[in-house]
Amino acid sequence: MRVEFKPEGIHLPSIDLWLDPRVPVPAAWLSHAHSDHARGLHETAIATAITGRLYRHRWPLPANRTQHLLTLNPGQSMEWRGATLTARQAAHILGAAQLEIVYEGECLVYTGDIKRRTPICGWETQPIPCDHLIIESTFGLPIYQFLEAAEAQTRIANFARECLAAGQTPIFQGYGLGRGQEIAHTLALHQIPCQIHHSIAALIPYFEAEGYTFPTESASGAILVTPGQEEKVPIPPAKRKTALVSGWAALDNARARSNADVLIPYSDHADFSELLTLIAESNPAQIDIVHGYAAPLAHILRQRGYNAREARL
Ligand SMILES: [Zn+2]
Repeated sequence: MRVEFKPEGIHLPSIDLWLDPRVPVPAAWLSHAHSDHARGLHETAIATAITGRLYRHRWPLPANRTQHLLTLNPGQSMEWRGATLTARQAAHILGAAQLEIVYEGECLVYTGDIKRRTPICGWETQPIPCDHLIIESTFGLPIYQFLEAAEAQTRIANFARECLAAGQTPIFQGYGLGRGQEIAHTLALHQIPCQIHHSIAALIPYFEAEGYTFPTESASGAILVTPGQEEKVPIPPAKRKTALVSGWAALDNARARSNADVLIPYSDHADFSELLTLIAESNPAQIDIVHGYAAPLAHILRQRGYNAREARL
């Protein structure tokens, strides 16, 4: 199946479907609700129910507009212009899914953003054998190695407890959708109270609807903010410590870049070994790699015998 990689996004001209387009299009698959993937008011948008709700929160429908927002949950299929579309679970953020497209006997899989390890919040990845794989490579170099969720959660809780026991305020940097709620949920599991920045707190109800718990608010507990906001917390440097929970925390220089005292390398993307696992499980005849370290990862995969190439958007 022909695939066009354009600045506007990934286009499948045979069935006129766009994958995570950056501009409004007639028909789009939204792999998850991060704003670099789900953006703009497409005429038709297809997504899981959770992604649809998060997308609607971030892209409200103006009163004078209509939109077909179609739900395709993991395991469900729909016919689309001669193709069969099936959503498959993806570990990334809550509601994330891969899209399996079967057209004229060929199976194409678009992973969207994905990891192979179990996430703190969200689904496990379902590996999909396919002919053609389009996969991301945000952290597609061997230097990136991340923690299992359970180890990350232990480090998050221990950092908070040790700070509080020493009379310091633990501050966490987490993104507005995904990491922020995962840190907050972890603090709740360990009964550590927390003040949560409004940009993270605003999306918590969508996680609560899926059964995740969140900490009680307390001025004497931890503080959870989005990156950059930690500078604005009115606590003197001697009375606070900051943890960066991120894939970038796998690199030592992330410490200087983020002003973090503690680095916890946990990500909602795959590290290098997870990417190799995912690709081996899919065993595709053709691999297109988007985002991040696409060129070096494609080179490494070709050395391992795969038909892989960098796909520039
Ligand atoms: Zn994402």
